[in-house]
Amino acid sequence: IADSNNSTTTTTTTPTPHVVLVPLMAQGHIIPMLDLAQLLTERDVHVTFITTPVNASRIKPIIVRVHESNLPINFIELPFPCAETGLPLGCENLDLVPSVDLQLNFFEANQLLALPFEQRLKNLVPPPSCMINDMWNPWTANVARSLNIRRLVYHGPSCAYIYCSYVFQLHKISEIVTDEFEEITVPGLTDYDNVFGQSFKVCRRHAPGWSNAPGFEKLSEKVLQGEETADGVVMNTFDDVEPMFVEAYKKVVGKDVWSVGPLCLYDKDDDLSARIVRGNKAAVDQGKLLCWLDSMEENSVLYVSFGSLTQMNVGQILEIGSGLEASEVPFIWVIKDVEKCPKVEEWMEGFEKRMSLRSFVIKGWAPQAVILSHKSVGGFVSHCGWNSTLEAVSNGVPMITWPQFADQFLNGRLVVELLRIGIAIGVKEPVFYYGEDEIRVRRDDVEKAVRSLMGAGEETEERRIRAREIKEKAIKAMEEGGSSYENITRLVEYIKHESCKGVQETKA
Ligand code: UDP
Repeated sequence: IADSNNSTTTTTTTPTPHVVLVPLMAQGHIIPMLDLAQLLTERDVHVTFITTPVNASRIKPIIVRVHESNLPINFIELPFPCAETGLPLGCENLDLVPSVDLQLNFFEANQLLALPFEQRLKNLVPPPSCMINDMWNPWTANVARSLNIRRLVYHGPSCAYIYCSYVFQLHKISEIVTDEFEEITVPGLTDYDNVFGQSFKVCRRHAPGWSNAPGFEKLSEKVLQGEETADGVVMNTFDDVEPMFVEAYKKVVGKDVWSVGPLCLYDKDDDLSARIVRGNKAAVDQGKLLCWLDSMEENSVLYVSFGSLTQMNVGQILEIGSGLEASEVPFIWVIKDVEKCPKVEEWMEGFEKRMSLRSFVIKGWAPQAVILSHKSVGGFVSHCGWNSTLEAVSNGVPMITWPQFADQFLNGRLVVELLRIGIAIGVKEPVFYYGEDEIRVRRDDVEKAVRSLMGAGEETEERRIRAREIKEKAIKAMEEGGSSYENITRLVEYIKHESCKGVQETKA
């Protein structure tokens, strides 16, 4: 793929299927799209991957690996307009936005990528035949239209969330039901009703559409329109993990839906040094971590991490630590860079000394995929981001579900109620940034949940068996003949068909 600066675009008559992937600049969105990019190249599709300088530097080892293996992926770095939108310099990823007040600025900056994006795309040789954009990038619609190419929307959350949000928005539930915590029967889930003998109920707060934050109304509307005007939908899920929701969504959305996940299973490289960089450079010595994990008994270690975005305060961090200490279970605990502060550092010093024999604390970015795939890891305290959930499912790791915001409450319910491979910590109220003194879960509840997930007993064993079963289904879905594998085949056929059409039109 060449990036020509010549303003008169050279068209080609070779029908090379060429897809442009446009992720939202956030870890939970970039990581699975990178997997998708590599997966498409395995099926003879050329890919252009949109990124920005800061994000490209985070995934540099992956870019180098892609170039060294001659994979046809062209990374385009668009300058992210921080200064123009009042963001601090370098604030190019959602996890770098320092406060809730600047989140909307981040999405404004994101929208301003449209113009440079269109200019770069016009110069691509061969020209792209199709675009797959994250749902948060509805501004790609105009560009696809102006280039006269197909556009598919990529949904990163679970289909349960997408479906419930979609029908709630369709039926204007927020105008009818004022109580945000009132449980509402989700229409159109007959398969669920038949299996469970009751209807599936969700409150608005747990399926708020694309965002319930004030100021986001216009953006939410655009996201919905972006989905409506898309030619099809690509989802990072698989049929066996949430069949009722996938079926119901396909019926209402009225366009092609390709469920192609779990995309994390693409990254099954045995070379751990390659897998250790996933989304960002790990803040840990790989050798030390693996050595520690190797020294632990099978299924004995609990992994504790809340994804890339949730920011906890000192009080909540200390409650988690104290609960882990009381549980007597070995653990790996991830504390984010943004959560570090003198109080936390001071407390951690004593804590790490006391816990030295049974803990591994990672301060910064953790190599989560490597950790979850290690045989010593037997439990995961998670915020239930959909990627983390799929990574747990794909590795057969039971979970303690502690959702924070967006799709995470519904993802947690899939884990606990449908798959029955998890225990809920029991939170109800969404949160993104923890308030100064906000403590959601106390140490005793952390200890209780950990003992119950990791302790011996029939329930634990049955949970593990179910987790292994769903892991097998996830692996099967991605193997030749599996549902996601076949959906990727159909998706690639669609893309190829579109490339040929482009060529015929050019010839005419
Ligand atoms: N992740 C990681 N190391 C970390 C934190 C997160 O590798 O220290 C990865 C994780 O494996 C997942 C993604 O970042 O692939 C987070 O996506 P998810 O949907 O779980 O949550 P979000 O960060 O979007 O809330």
